[in-house]
Amino acid sequence: MLVRFWGTRGSLPVAQTAAIVQDKIASALLAASGRSFADFEEAREFARDSLDFAIGGSYGGATTCVEIEARGAKQVDDAFIVCDMGSGLRSFGLDAMRRCAAGHARVYHFFMSHLHWDHIMGFPFFVPAFDPNAHIIIHSGHADAETALRRQQEEISFPVAFDWLRAKIEFVTLETDTAYDIGGVQVELMEQHHSHSSFGYRFTDADGKVTVFSTDSEHKMETMAGEADVEHFFREADLVICDTMYSLADSVSMKEDWGHSSNIVAIDLCHAAKAKQLALFHHEPTYSDADIARMHAESIRYAELTRENVTLDVLCAYDGLEVVL
Ligand SMILES: [Zn+2]
Ligand SMILES: [Zn+2]
Repeated sequence: MLVRFWGTRGSLPVAQTAAIVQDKIASALLAASGRSFADFEEAREFARDSLDFAIGGSYGGATTCVEIEARGAKQVDDAFIVCDMGSGLRSFGLDAMRRCAAGHARVYHFFMSHLHWDHIMGFPFFVPAFDPNAHIIIHSGHADAETALRRQQEEISFPVAFDWLRAKIEFVTLETDTAYDIGGVQVELMEQHHSHSSFGYRFTDADGKVTVFSTDSEHKMETMAGEADVEHFFREADLVICDTMYSLADSVSMKEDWGHSSNIVAIDLCHAAKAKQLALFHHEPTYSDADIARMHAESIRYAELTRENVTLDVLCAYDGLEVVL
């Protein structure tokens, strides 16, 4: 199974400013002082491998969109599997058009965590929706997914109406407590604590590899005893992509009941579930790359301090990250 992150930010897309880029360049120049580089490639290698990621890279600013490529004998219909339609969907759509031109099937299975704006705003910019040969199936735990997508393309908000889209578009409402076989993977849903509710998805491919996509869910410290169902949902997953929008200090002070979780709670849940990897996800838009890198380092330290038998690898998702399971 291959998991490709097209958008990892929460709530609102974030763009780099000139000042941010200048700070990164200045920090890189300091880190490279006294060194010389033979060519661009060598300098690029230094930027990629020797600089801190917050200086030589960026977590990115597109909102949530994650692609799952299942592997194994049952992956026969070669459909795309995509979680959420945040602004990262735009880049996925352009890449998918290239892959379709090279022969990939024009079938898209979407799985929607929920219908908040940051999770659907990419759809009006999803080029395959204009492809008359494309078939788009939008799976959701919510029965009002079609209403949400049509509404954001009404004339008052957007110039291109939903009915102008040329692809064949279907909406499917999924139930919890059922295992579905869709696009060559087994899919299960879990309802989560969030405004208007959200749903987590557990994907299992024919090789038995498991990815859990669980964003926009508030797991509170004081109700951890009642989180046995979440622990079961995460059980022995190869990768858990989890909403870790706030640091613990933020989540227990001013941001309680905002519908999001902390890195600490996600690690506790993954440890209890014996998950193998956790990807921090749905980054707070006001956090800088350095803030997110600090939270990542603290998360690794906390996971090491509290681990029991199974080692949990803590990744920090960024736009463009690919994880092979
Ligand atoms: Zn969100
Ligand atoms: Zn939300």
